[in-house]
Formats: sequence, C-alpha cells, structure tokens
Amino acid sequence: MNQLLPFLIPGRGARGYWVQITEGLETMFGWRDYPADVAQQLGEALAAAPLLAADMTQAGRFNLQFQGEGPLKLLVTQIDAQLRLRGMAKHAPDAAGDFQALMKGGLLAAMIEPEGDGERYQAMVEVVGLALSEALQIYFGRSEQLQTLIRLSASEGKLAGLLVQRLPGGEGSRSARAAGARSAAQPRALDGESGGEHVDPDHAAAGSGDVDNDNWEHVYTLMRTVTPDDLQKWSGEELLNRIFAEDEVRVFEPRPIELVCRCSDAQISAMLLGLGRDEVDSVLAEQGAVAINCEFCGRGYRYDQADVVALFAADAASGDDQATRH
Ligand SMILES: [Zn+2]
Repeated sequence: MNQLLPFLIPGRGARGYWVQITEGLETMFGWRDYPADVAQQLGEALAAAPLLAADMTQAGRFNLQFQGEGPLKLLVTQIDAQLRLRGMAKHAPDAAGDFQALMKGGLLAAMIEPEGDGERYQAMVEVVGLALSEALQIYFGRSEQLQTLIRLSASEGKLAGLLVQRLPGGEGSRSARAAGARSAAQPRALDGESGGEHVDPDHAAAGSGDVDNDNWEHVYTLMRTVTPDDLQKWSGEELLNRIFAEDEVRVFEPRPIELVCRCSDAQISAMLLGLGRDEVDSVLAEQGAVAINCEFCGRGYRYDQADVVALFAADAASGDDQATRH
C-alpha cells in the first residue's frame, strides 16, 4: 500500500510523517535501466518527496532535484498536492557506489512550482552528508530553520521514510492553546479507537507549556536508533509505537500516494504552443514530424504536419476570446 501518515507527538512538541510506497515500483523503475546503486538513491528520493511535500497546500508541484558532475548526472522526483509522484535519474552507464560516490559535490534543489500565478520557490544546497536523508536534514535546517530528522529506506519492493520535525516553541504554545479551545476528539490516538476525520496536525497540537530542548533531544536520540531495516519491517503505527514507546503518538488520516507519470497529450501540446509555430515548423521541416519522448516514462508523442496545423489553429481559435493573449 502507498500511504503518507501524519502524526503528532504532543508531549515532545514534535510532529511528522511516515511514508510507505509498495505499489507501482516495478513500473516506475522499469521506465529506464537503472544500476542497483542508482535505483537505491532514486528510491530514497522517491520516499523523501511525499515527506517534504506533505505540507504543500496549494495546487502545484514540488520538485526535489539533484544535479551532479559525477556518475549520477541528474535525479528528479516530482509530486503534486494530490501526492501523485514520479521520478527518474540519468547516470553514467557504469554508475555505482554509495550516496557519496554518486552524489557528492553535486547540487540538491527543492522547488515549489505553484499552478497559475503563485510565487515559485526554490532553494539549492551543495550535497553534504553520508546519505540523502542527512543532506535533506541539513538543507531543512538551513532553509526553513526547522529542526528536522529524516530516515529513508529503499528496497526493491518497498520505499519507506520517516520525518520528524520540531514544532517551533511559539507555534507549539499557540497550538496548545488553540487545541485547548477545540475538541480534542478528532485525532486518533495510536492505541485508541479509529477516528477517521482528517485533522491537520499543525492545528491539533496539544500539550502544556513551551517545547523545551530536552524533549527535542529525546526525540533526536530515539530517531538515531531507527535503521533502514526498521523502516522496511514495520507499519507506520508499529514503527512509531516502537520508537516513541513512552510517548503518546497521535496519528491522523493517512493519504494515498500514486506512483504515476502525469505526461499527457495536453501537456505536450502546451509545450509545443509555448515553443511557437516557427520553432515547431523548423523541426517539422528538418525531421518530417515532431517526436517527443517523456523524460520520465519514455512514452512517445508524435505530431505530423497535419497535427501541428490543427494544434495551432485550435489555439488561435481559443485565443480569440482572450484579448491579452498573443
Ligand atoms: Zn511520462
């Protein structure tokens, strides 16, 4: 099952997400021929994407992208607000090695591309650390100034990950007050009866007083014990129960994740329209048709002369209604 599970540890002033992806892996990893070590890094990045994009509320896309000069040239994962996820990597034919061998010295970028006119956000850091999870933790610490702990694991049949974030002190106490004023009935305690309603853990934080450093130290110490094997072995609730055995952990409604390529005729058509008629005509003149393969899934799209004429004619017709369009 593919799912993203939000949770809150009120007594420790922390919240987070657990992710598991088991469906669609064979298809996605079959799009290209990946060496095992590249597949490992791609798998971890695919597990990380839902964790990092979980708080994205607006329509749009979150990209986690790596670029390097080493054996791994490019690694891209994209996820939208509906948690539709895809990824791919480009590499030297003989690419092999661990995270450092493949990615050290490259750049890691996180981008939010909102739909429409929203502001685009991008942050980039040089890759450091011994694993993708470490690089991301450092990235988070710098760019968002939120203390974040991440664990990732990828095997052939399962991708899994865990992200725990410290609630800012101010926010924690505000949320605590807000939660006091609200009903505390919605969140489902791990050992309790199932609730079912989706509650945003941001606004459901309970607990008393300010979040102190000891609590976060405790979370940090516990998270250090989590191994990739643990992530592979346990379900989200089991894992959280084991790690935070002394604490109350509240889990919320899990969200489904779909591994799928979103490429479509409409998307490719829009791209051709964006290039402009002259550019497209010159490709037609040179090659007889415009043939495009999706960078992710490899699906082929082909436009001959008649298709191009029809595409631009349809666009001109719809453009007549929009005076601002050229
Ligand atoms: Zn595609």
